[in-house]
Amino acid sequence: MSEKFANYVGGRWVPARSGKTFFNHNPASGEVLGEYPASGPDDVNDAVAAARAAYATWRLTPAPRRAEIVFRAGEIIRARKEELARAMTREMGKILIETRGDVQEGIDMAYLAAGEGRRMYGVTTPSEMPNKWAMSVRAPIGVVGVVTPWNFPFAIPSWKLMPALVAGNTAVFKPAGDTPEMAWHFVRIFEEAGLPGGVLNLVFGSGSQVGAPLVEHPHVQALSFTGSTEVGLGINAIAGRLGKRVTLEMGGKNAIIVMEDADLELATDAIVWSAFGTTGQRCTACSRVLVHERVHDALAQRVAARAQKLKLGDGLEPATEVGPLVNANQVGTVEKYVAIGRGEGTLAAGGERPADGALARGHFYKPTVFTGVKAGARIAVEEIFGPVLAFVKVRDLAEAVEVNNASSYGLSSAIFTADVNRAFAAMRDLDTGIVYVNHGTTGAETHLPFGGTRGTGNGHREAGHTMLDPFTEWKSIYVDFSGRLQRAQIDNA
Ligand code: NDP
Repeated sequence: MSEKFANYVGGRWVPARSGKTFFNHNPASGEVLGEYPASGPDDVNDAVAAARAAYATWRLTPAPRRAEIVFRAGEIIRARKEELARAMTREMGKILIETRGDVQEGIDMAYLAAGEGRRMYGVTTPSEMPNKWAMSVRAPIGVVGVVTPWNFPFAIPSWKLMPALVAGNTAVFKPAGDTPEMAWHFVRIFEEAGLPGGVLNLVFGSGSQVGAPLVEHPHVQALSFTGSTEVGLGINAIAGRLGKRVTLEMGGKNAIIVMEDADLELATDAIVWSAFGTTGQRCTACSRVLVHERVHDALAQRVAARAQKLKLGDGLEPATEVGPLVNANQVGTVEKYVAIGRGEGTLAAGGERPADGALARGHFYKPTVFTGVKAGARIAVEEIFGPVLAFVKVRDLAEAVEVNNASSYGLSSAIFTADVNRAFAAMRDLDTGIVYVNHGTTGAETHLPFGGTRGTGNGHREAGHTMLDPFTEWKSIYVDFSGRLQRAQIDNA
């Protein structure tokens, strides 16, 4: 029988009020892993009430003390890295070296966010009046609602919750339905690290029954969401109507540009890793290669040959290079786009599910490459979120930049070239939140801001030196020690 898990509300592990449950599964085998509360609006109300009550004392706990708890959580994560990585591979499928990287992001983020507890710098500035002090400080916002996807089920909650808590907010966390176990580990670790009850609350359940009520709740002042553009824009509309702060990280259609002077071996390594790592389900995954027409065929042949050789399998097996997709829906989406792609380009690798043996039980799909695809074709424009790559020919850098920037998304882009002048022009002109030179589109480091332009985001950046921005308000404070009424803009004009 599978283990039964509970919500975490006000420092206690409790079932959903309705008593309903759901199960998570191993996408490589279909095995049932655990049973979780299928919560509803009443459970959200309980969690928000607990977070609200805890806010009164948490916001007054000195920031360095708050940060010490986050640091301790980082130490626990480090000690359990391997156990957490294995649990993640079992739950969402990506291979062990990648799940270790996901957990490592949690460790890196814990140490980085903990450092902010002793910085969280404000600004002092001279007043225009004599004997008057002027400064601005960061203040927490209140109760934060955090909604996350399944593809980075440890790293993404870390980017959001660690800075939110260091800043003095309390939180209600609604993880993706496909990865409840990783959320449970995350919250258990904070409990063990000594986080007071009510500061971080966890409510399992669906987007409609838990996510939507959390977004709408009048006592949730700020929202942080990562997921699809469709859901994110819906949340944005509600938050706009209710006047809430909202940070959105949404879809992507990331391009690697390869110029005719590029090192094709290096570009091939980077394309294969960026396109087929995490089975193409990274928000920064490369799903289109904009390649100079002179090297299109040579590069496409190399990448297709490598794609065909990638070993599919259970991510826990050391030899596996590509794990399963997360669920049957994702397989369906990939199948739909491959059917579209057959009319839009030449199939050079993959294009089907593996039929053999154990793989038939899991959500596997062969790494797929289409060549000679037009820039405006659907497979070159729409997010697929699977192991499907489109090669698009370009004449020169100007055309590559134009095609890159015509996308409705703007998360990550990359250029391979040996020409420093072209590299700098691309760094300036590529309209994405992240640009790589001679490196694939994935591999963001936690101490740099993370986020995208256009349809990928709404102007915020997570992590990096911007990590506190989504979770703090600026408060300007004036202290007049002149002992008399001094009127700015009037008495000194
Ligand atoms: P979804 O948007 O379907 O789900 C994301 C989260 O939102 C889940 O927890 C989901 O719950 C919840 N949710 C669904 N509907 C609602 C609602 N109406 N109100 C509130 N919450 C809701 O995305 P996926 O989980 O399928 O993730 C894949 C997508 O995420 C891709 O488009 C990808 O590009 C994007 N992504 C972007 C990243 C970035 O940094 N830009 C990083 C990672 C992913 P439930 O799971 O229960 O449905």
